[in-house]
Amino acid sequence: MARCIAQGLVSGQRMAIDASLIEADANKQNSTPKEEWDAASIDPEDAPRAVREYLDALDEAAFGAVSEVQPKFTSHSDPASQWTAARKGSAFCSYSDDYLIDTDHGVIVDVEATRSIRQAEVGSTKTMLNRVKERFDLHPRRLIADTAYGTAPLLGWLVDRKIAPHIPVFDKAGRSDGTWSRADFEWDAENDQNICPAGHALEQFRRNYSDPNRGPTCKGTARYHAFKQVCQACPSKAKCCPNADARKITREEHEDARQVARDIAKTRQYDISMKLRKKVEMLFAHLKRILGLGRLRLRGPYGANDEFLLAATAQNLRKLAKIFPAPQQTRKA
Ligand code: SF4
Repeated sequence: MARCIAQGLVSGQRMAIDASLIEADANKQNSTPKEEWDAASIDPEDAPRAVREYLDALDEAAFGAVSEVQPKFTSHSDPASQWTAARKGSAFCSYSDDYLIDTDHGVIVDVEATRSIRQAEVGSTKTMLNRVKERFDLHPRRLIADTAYGTAPLLGWLVDRKIAPHIPVFDKAGRSDGTWSRADFEWDAENDQNICPAGHALEQFRRNYSDPNRGPTCKGTARYHAFKQVCQACPSKAKCCPNADARKITREEHEDARQVARDIAKTRQYDISMKLRKKVEMLFAHLKRILGLGRLRLRGPYGANDEFLLAATAQNLRKLAKIFPAPQQTRKA
């Protein structure tokens, strides 16, 4: 990385992030279903290295601590690997290889091994961006990623750090039945209300519940509703809320950051970013097809991390050699 920076291959202005599943050296025959798996019963003194690493990583954000959901099967030989059916076809044990690249020349600026679940992959974004800032003083102006990274907390984190998210917003509020979705309502920040397409205000529901999970606002989401009498008399009701007395919509905690991402998505720069995103996908294709890293040889989180790091280093060295070929040796007469 230092050599790539010294050679001018990394400006640090535009970065892209993505993750790819790499099969672990583990299989289902040597595994336990989640109902019978008990990590507390493992004796660390008697366990092989990969199992000890699994126990050590249980509290790490990239592994055990990222989610309480247990995989359907846990491998005995490499319990930190994730049983996953994310790809079409049969399920297998895997680790996620997370790449952060500079899009100028496709140099890999950081790499991380994580559990193969979305929360862990998305969580590695913060780890890697913090690390390149600390080690190389790189702070991108824009980060490019796919929808999996467009969650409200990550967008909020990026916008707070003045990193423009060139990321499609992960939005479950879209409607497929042709009725108006949340995007059709206008946010009025000054008055803390949403304005519907017919021009009426939807105000926040403020009733106080003793149990926060039963209340209208929980997990950072605020709910806004229109007045029943207004909606009942509205000529657009069939297009807005055909099956409810009045329209309700929600606003996420980081809605401002989501709006920043939505506004960016309308720009020409965003179209360019979506094409640049292919560079990180191409690196994964190269990793698997040319370097042949379809299955890991080493076990455990550290084994996976070491292999991913070595492979990424090889890819960067290959890039350096391609852009700056060694000078031809001249034969002595
Ligand atoms: S149904 Fe209610 S919320 Fe929807 S457009 Fe009409 S007044 Fe507005």
